[in-house]
Amino acid sequence: MKVIKIDKKEWTGGIDKSREKYLLFGPVKDKDVTNKEHYIFKKLAAGEFPVMEGVDTVLSPKSVIFPQTEKILKSSLDQSQPDHHIMKRVENDYSSRAVIGIRSFDAKALTLVNLNFDTKDYQDPYWCDAYKATTFVGLAVNKPSDVDFSTSMGSGPFGEEGLDVLLVDNGEEFLAKVITDKGKTFLDAAGFNKTADESAVKKIEDLKAQAEKTIADKAKVGTDNLKNKTVLDLYEAPFWDDIAFSCINCGTCTFVCPTCWCFDIQDETKGKSCTRFKNWDSCMFPLFTLHGSGHNPRGVKTQRVRQRFMHKLKYFLDKYDKGTMCVGCGRCVQSCPVNIDIREVCNIMNNYEPKK
Ligand code: SF4
Ligand code: SF4
Repeated sequence: MKVIKIDKKEWTGGIDKSREKYLLFGPVKDKDVTNKEHYIFKKLAAGEFPVMEGVDTVLSPKSVIFPQTEKILKSSLDQSQPDHHIMKRVENDYSSRAVIGIRSFDAKALTLVNLNFDTKDYQDPYWCDAYKATTFVGLAVNKPSDVDFSTSMGSGPFGEEGLDVLLVDNGEEFLAKVITDKGKTFLDAAGFNKTADESAVKKIEDLKAQAEKTIADKAKVGTDNLKNKTVLDLYEAPFWDDIAFSCINCGTCTFVCPTCWCFDIQDETKGKSCTRFKNWDSCMFPLFTLHGSGHNPRGVKTQRVRQRFMHKLKYFLDKYDKGTMCVGCGRCVQSCPVNIDIREVCNIMNNYEPKK
């Protein structure tokens, strides 16, 4: 695999050059409503550059492909128009874009969401067009956070799945592993084309081993038995009430998660125009599953908490045979206000033996 060497002194010049062909997205510093600083992924304005110091973002870059709220269809309610009440697709901008500084686990997470939105039977055109237009330029994690358990969940700090380029911070330079043709096209557009010597591969392997060891030295999350467990045994297991007890159904865990894809459709009318929106929703909200009849199949908190964990750690795994629908980013562990920890739940499920 080809490795390109990028002198950090040439970084901003190259990124600026790439703007001629790409819309750029990346992590930048922001402030929340309490004025506290944090980092978010957003579209980079001219003169703005992604923070490349390995910062953690509360939200994943999922919103670049799947915005929190997105206009999808529109129609006119003006009966004098020949096409009144006919829903038409909103023309969004799907020109080439690059997400720079995405973590490996987030790129893998998007491949898992893609399994749901781009199937042989149906495709979500909004997701598909955005996903195909995007080049993912990852940044390897040299110093994993305390809540990172990605190596247990089929990803890792230097994982390549879902990425087009993997950048590795090596002091005064980035070593860029070219993973796909799309990645090479981006590096060419930025003018990054100096091939690194053979020692670069060894350097990347050493940094990778160090980072993986940092994660392995912390608590291990077991997933090896999940596939062999029976769905009904886990569904009817006695531990769900205890796990769900302190949950306040705030939905934070699902909004911060890079693999959660639940959404709701909402129509809004203003004067004689109607717009249909696709908005993030959450299986943790009681209204999410409320039927028009008034019946709610998941009206009780324990049912919703069980659904979240069963979907991520059992149903998805059984349906796709692509591992769990959790990549071990640790965001939900960090953000849950009552400390419900998917690492513990995963171990409980993995070790559960029903009484005979
Ligand atoms: S973040 Fe915690 S409290 Fe909020 S819905 Fe998720 S598990 Fe429940
Ligand atoms: S379930 Fe939690 S740890 Fe797993 S991918 Fe989602 S936010 Fe990350």
